[in-house]
Amino acid sequence: MDSEQIKTAAREAGFELCGVARAEPTLESAFYPEWISRGFHGKMGYLEGPRGEMRADPRTLLPSARSVICVGQVYNAPYRYSTEADEPEKGWVARYAWGRDYHDTMKNRLHGLARTLRDEAGDFEYKVCVDTSPILERAYAHRAGLGWIAKNTCLINEQIGSWVLLGEILTSLELDADEPAPFRCGTCTRCIDACPTDAFVEIGDAGPSHALDARRCISYWTIELKGEIPEENRGEIGRHVFGCDICQDVCPWNRPARAATTDAEEFQPANAEPSLEELATMTQEQFNDRFAGTPIERSRYAGFLRNVAVAMGNSGNPEVMATLERLAEFDDPNVRVHALWALRKAEGDKAR
Ligand code: SF4
Ligand code: SF4
Repeated sequence: MDSEQIKTAAREAGFELCGVARAEPTLESAFYPEWISRGFHGKMGYLEGPRGEMRADPRTLLPSARSVICVGQVYNAPYRYSTEADEPEKGWVARYAWGRDYHDTMKNRLHGLARTLRDEAGDFEYKVCVDTSPILERAYAHRAGLGWIAKNTCLINEQIGSWVLLGEILTSLELDADEPAPFRCGTCTRCIDACPTDAFVEIGDAGPSHALDARRCISYWTIELKGEIPEENRGEIGRHVFGCDICQDVCPWNRPARAATTDAEEFQPANAEPSLEELATMTQEQFNDRFAGTPIERSRYAGFLRNVAVAMGNSGNPEVMATLERLAEFDDPNVRVHALWALRKAEGDKAR
């Protein structure tokens, strides 16, 4: 079985992108320990230690691996970008989290693809990875020709843009590898200029062109960080209640007329711009009913209310006071702290 047959099978399985890389360390693998040692991963402990070290080489996940079959699936629902959202009573949710959680469905489809390949190529060992496995997904996707690792640290495909979920099949099959995609950011710096928190660090020749300092990123604060969001950063979060897409929204390769879209039900904007008032007054039960099976579930009820309180404080909407006062008396101390901050912020904005 050759790489072209695999790409055909991947397309038939519903993946817009597919390519093959060799299962060996990459330039990014060499840079990864430095990213960790600079502390850019913040409190995401699962990225360091023995599990982090596994990212050096995919053969730590599957010793017999010779090739990495990389796939990409478009998740971009045809809906406006966060940079166009201007309603103060609404929050914003990162694009990938608008609908159902993709991890299980993508894994199932990759297992289905692997079974199809086995029917053709005979028995081989394989391991499916989607997002949470310790493998540098973008580095292999780049090597497999799916796109380049851009200054905003996302993988961008020239035809499709960057609204793409990545997955891999590590396999013992010895396959022809693709050519890495060329870097096409050129002199553009729109994502770096637009990032409200200055989260990108230029790396130079030591690794990829830029790295993300997660400790300065809205996605990290609103999704990964448990406990308190640093007070000095709360005002930078705007009305983001779960994740942030600004550095992708402004990218010319993602212009709405150019970026690929999907009509898949699970990615449609069910939760794109929820009413802040509605979110802030949800009970635990209502939170479970609304967000079970979606990525937002991961933030848990109190963590999500923390984000909603911050977004209300930043909204510039004078009508949030009564709701914030109620949140300032909430059971969870973390919600209370952020609601009190939001009240002070909203009062200050009102006085101005
Ligand atoms: S996701 Fe938002 S905060 Fe994070 S780097 Fe991109 S623009 Fe900056
Ligand atoms: S905005 Fe410009 S620099 Fe940033 S990722 Fe897109 S093309 Fe690259």
